[in-house]
Amino acid sequence: MTDFYQKTADEALEMFNSDKKSGLTTEEAHERLEEYGPNSITQQKSKSAWDLLWHNLNNLIVYLLLAAAILSFAMGETVEGIAVLIAVALAVLTGFFTELKAQKSVDSLQSMIYTTSKVIRDGDVEQIKSSELVPGDIMVLEEGDAIAADGRIITSRNFACIESALTGESEAVEKSWRETYDDEIPLGDRRNVVFAGTAVTRGSAYVVVTETAMKTEVGKISGMLTNSGGDKTPLDLELDKLGKALIIAALIAGIAVLIAGTLTNQPFTEMAHISIILAVAAIPEAMPAVSTITLSRGMKTMAEHKALVKSLSAVETLGSTSIICSDKTGTLTENQMTVVEVVLANGDHFEVSGNGYEPVGSIEKDGKEIDPNDNEDLIELIRDGVLCNTAQLKQSDDQYDIVGDPTDGALVVFGAKVGLRRRHLEEDNWEKVAELPFDSENKFMVSVYDHDNGKRTLIMKGAPDVLMDLSVHTDETYQKWQSANEEIAANGHRVIAIASISDYQGSIEDTELKDSLDNLSLNGLVGIIDPPRTDVFDSIALSQAAGIQVKMITGDHPKTASIIARDIGLKNYEKTMTGREIDHAVDTPEFEEQVRETAVFARVSPENKLQIVRALREQGEVVAMTGDGVNDAPALNGADIGVAMGIRGTEVAKESSDMILTDDRFGTIVDAIKEGRIIFDNIKKYVAFLFSCNMVEIITILLSVVFLLPMPIQPLHILFLNLVIDIAPAMSLAFEPAEANLMGRNPRSRSESLVNKLFLGRIILSGSVIGLTAFGLFTVLMANNYQLIYAQTATFTFMAIGQLMHIFNVRKQNSFGFDKSLFKNRALVFALLLSVVLQMLAVYLPFMNAVLGTAPIGLITWVAIFVAAAISTIVVMLLKKVINFN
Ligand code: ADP
Ligand code: MG
Repeated sequence: MTDFYQKTADEALEMFNSDKKSGLTTEEAHERLEEYGPNSITQQKSKSAWDLLWHNLNNLIVYLLLAAAILSFAMGETVEGIAVLIAVALAVLTGFFTELKAQKSVDSLQSMIYTTSKVIRDGDVEQIKSSELVPGDIMVLEEGDAIAADGRIITSRNFACIESALTGESEAVEKSWRETYDDEIPLGDRRNVVFAGTAVTRGSAYVVVTETAMKTEVGKISGMLTNSGGDKTPLDLELDKLGKALIIAALIAGIAVLIAGTLTNQPFTEMAHISIILAVAAIPEAMPAVSTITLSRGMKTMAEHKALVKSLSAVETLGSTSIICSDKTGTLTENQMTVVEVVLANGDHFEVSGNGYEPVGSIEKDGKEIDPNDNEDLIELIRDGVLCNTAQLKQSDDQYDIVGDPTDGALVVFGAKVGLRRRHLEEDNWEKVAELPFDSENKFMVSVYDHDNGKRTLIMKGAPDVLMDLSVHTDETYQKWQSANEEIAANGHRVIAIASISDYQGSIEDTELKDSLDNLSLNGLVGIIDPPRTDVFDSIALSQAAGIQVKMITGDHPKTASIIARDIGLKNYEKTMTGREIDHAVDTPEFEEQVRETAVFARVSPENKLQIVRALREQGEVVAMTGDGVNDAPALNGADIGVAMGIRGTEVAKESSDMILTDDRFGTIVDAIKEGRIIFDNIKKYVAFLFSCNMVEIITILLSVVFLLPMPIQPLHILFLNLVIDIAPAMSLAFEPAEANLMGRNPRSRSESLVNKLFLGRIILSGSVIGLTAFGLFTVLMANNYQLIYAQTATFTFMAIGQLMHIFNVRKQNSFGFDKSLFKNRALVFALLLSVVLQMLAVYLPFMNAVLGTAPIGLITWVAIFVAAAISTIVVMLLKKVINFN
C-alpha cells in the first residue's frame, strides 16, 4: 500500500507512467480500464433477475394459493388443483415480468444520470464519465467539481476542497501540490492529495489519479455506508400492509365459516372448500407489482419532460410536495443580465439602453444621451467592471453570447457598449496579478492589476451592503449610498457595487486579498435587469392553486427580490427575510412560524438554505429545494426533494439531489409534481378497484354461507376474475390522465396514508353494493329452479360485468367516469373490450366450460346481468355523491 501523500508530484507521475501535459493516451486509458475495472463503488447494485423471481415466489400470496391447490388435490378436485397451480404460475410470472421491465426502465433512466470528470487524454482536456477514470489519468479540477477518484495534486492554484463526506470536517481544506510529508498523518491533514467523494470549493488543480473504485479512501469505508433509501418505497410498504390485512381478514372469515359449519353439522370437506374459496377471493393476486410499474412509468414520463428523478421513492414524494423553495436567479428568471442603470459617487444617475448581450446601446442622463468618454468617473467605473470579471463575450454570426457568469457578462457587454474590451485593456498594459473569485458566501470578487508606470490597483465588486461596510465610514455617505442602493433595488434590479484601491500595497496571495482591503473607495453602483422567465407566472399560479407554496431564495437585495416576486405573481411577496435576520432568529421559538410565512428570502447564505429546509420540514411540510453550488449540497440533502440544475448546476449539486432539471426551469418542477400527483392518484385507483372487486367476491360468498345456500361461485371463477378479467383494466388505470381538479386540491399531507377511512369506506361500500346484487341475482335464479351450474355461471358473469362497470366509478373521484376522457386512455378501452370477450369465451367455449365448470347462458340472462350491473353501478355512483369521498 503506497501512501501517495508522502511522494512528490513528480514521483507520483512517474509511478503511473503519466505525463503532466499530455496525460494518458486513449489507448493506454482503455487498457488500464480493463486492468483496474470501472471506477465505481459497488454500493447500490440493482436487483438481478433471480432476485426478482425469488421476490415474486417468496411471498404470502403464493404460499396461500399453493395451500389451496394442495387442499383441492386432497379433496379429489384435480382440475381445480391444476387450475390453481396455473393461477400461481400466472401470478408469479406476471409479477416477475412486469417488475423486470420496470427495473430495466429504472436502470436505463438511472444510467442517464452519471457524473463526469475532466481529464487530459492525448494532450487535450476531455470530459469522460467518472466511472472511466483510471490510475494515471490527469484530472482537471475546478470549483464545483465533484472529485471521483483519489489523486496526488501536481499543480494547483488557490485550491480548496470540502471533505466533510469523508472526514466530517465542514470547513474547506486548503490544498497545494507543494506540500510534502515524511511522517504518517491522518486523512484530514493530507493537503497534497484529493479524495474521491469530496468536492472542490475554490480554485483549480491538476491531479494525477492514484486510486480508483474500492481502493479509494471512500471505497474502503463504503461497506459501512449503508444506503438508507432501500428499494421499498413507503408506498410499497403500505401496500404490503394492506394486502396482509386483507388476507388476514379472509383467513379469519374462513375459520369462522369452518367453526360455524362444524357447529351446524355441515360436511367438513364442503366447509374446507368454502374456506379455500374465501381465501382465493381475498388475495390481491395482482397487487405486488403495481406501485413499481406505475412509479417507474412515472419516472419515464418525468424524464421525457426534462426532470430526471433518481429513485422511485422520489417519484412518490414529489406528488405530496407542499412547498417549493426556488432559487431566483436562473430558475425563476432568465439569468440573462443587462446593465440598465448606474449611480456614481457624486450622485449622478445614468440610464443604459439596449437588450440582452448585444453590445449596442447608449447612455442617457436625465433623458438626454451623453458621450461617456466625457465623464472620466463613469468610464473608470465601467473599466473596473470589465477588469474585475471572469466572463467573456462571444459572437457567432449575429448571435452574442456569454461564456461564464451572467452577472459578469452584463458588465462585459456594458464595457463593449462604450468601446472598452478586455483585450484593449491588456494592450494598455493592464496585467492581472491576483484574483479572489466570486462566491455566494462572500458575495464579492476581487482582482488586482498592475499597469503602466508600475502602479498596482485593486478592484472589488460585489453586493453593495458588503462593500459599503468595508469602504464607507461616515453616516452621511452611508445614507447616500444606502438610498441609491434601495432606489435601484426598488426597480427590481440586481445591484452591484464597484470599489477600488488605486495604489494598492497589500499582499497578492489570492487567499489574503480579503484581509487587505483598507483604503477601499466605493465608486458606484450598477443596476442590472434579469427578466423573469416567460412561463414562470403561469407555473407559479398553477402551484399556488394546487396549495403548494412557492418561496423565492436569492443572494440579491430583499427589495430587488420582492419586486420580482410581485411581478411573477408570488403570494405574500412583501414578506421578506434576510440571511442576517435568519441568523438572528434561528434559535428563537418563533423561527419556524416566521419561515413558513415568509415568501422571499434574500441575501441568504447556503447555510441559511438548510435552516429554512429544516424549519419547514419540522412543521410537517414536504419541501422541494433547488440548488446549484457546492455549498448547496447540505440543503439539497436535507430537503425531501433536492432539485439540482442540469445546466447551471455543479456536479456536486447533481450528486446530492433527488431530481435534476435538464432545462433549469421552474416550470419543470411543477410539471414533475403534477405527474407525481397523477401517479399517486392512479395507484390509489388501482388499489380501490382491485380491493373492491375482492370485496364483491367475499361478500357474495359470506351471504351464501349465512343463508345456508350453495356456493354462488366456484374458486376457479374467482381466480379467473382476479387474474384474467380484472388485471388488464386495472393495469391500464396507470395510464389514466389527470383528473380535472388534480391541481385544484391541496397536497396530501405527509402523514396521510394511502388507505384512510374514507378510502376504506368506499371500497367496503361499493364492494357490498355489487356483492349484494350478485347474491340477489343468484337467489332469484335458484328460486326459479335454474340449475346450480347455470346460476353460478350467471353470477360469475355478473361479477365480471359489474366489476368492469365499476371501473367508471373508480376512475373519477367524485363523478362518473363514462365520458369522453375515457378515450384518452385507449389502453383502458381496449382492456375493457378484451375482458368482455374473455368472459364470453369462459361462458361459451366448450373447453372452458369443462375446465371452469360453466354452462352457456341465454340472452334474457345477459339482459338481466347488464341491468343488474347498471343498477349497482348507479347506486355506487349515487353513494359517492351523497358521501363525499376524497
Ligand atoms: P443569487 O442567488 O440570486 O444568484 P448571488 O449569491 O449569486 O445571488 O449574488 C448575491 C449578490 O452578490 C448579488 O446581489 C450581487 O450584488 C452580488 N454578485 C452576484 N454575482 C456577482 C459577481 N459575479 N461579481 C460580483 N458580485 C456579484
Ligand atoms: Mg448567483
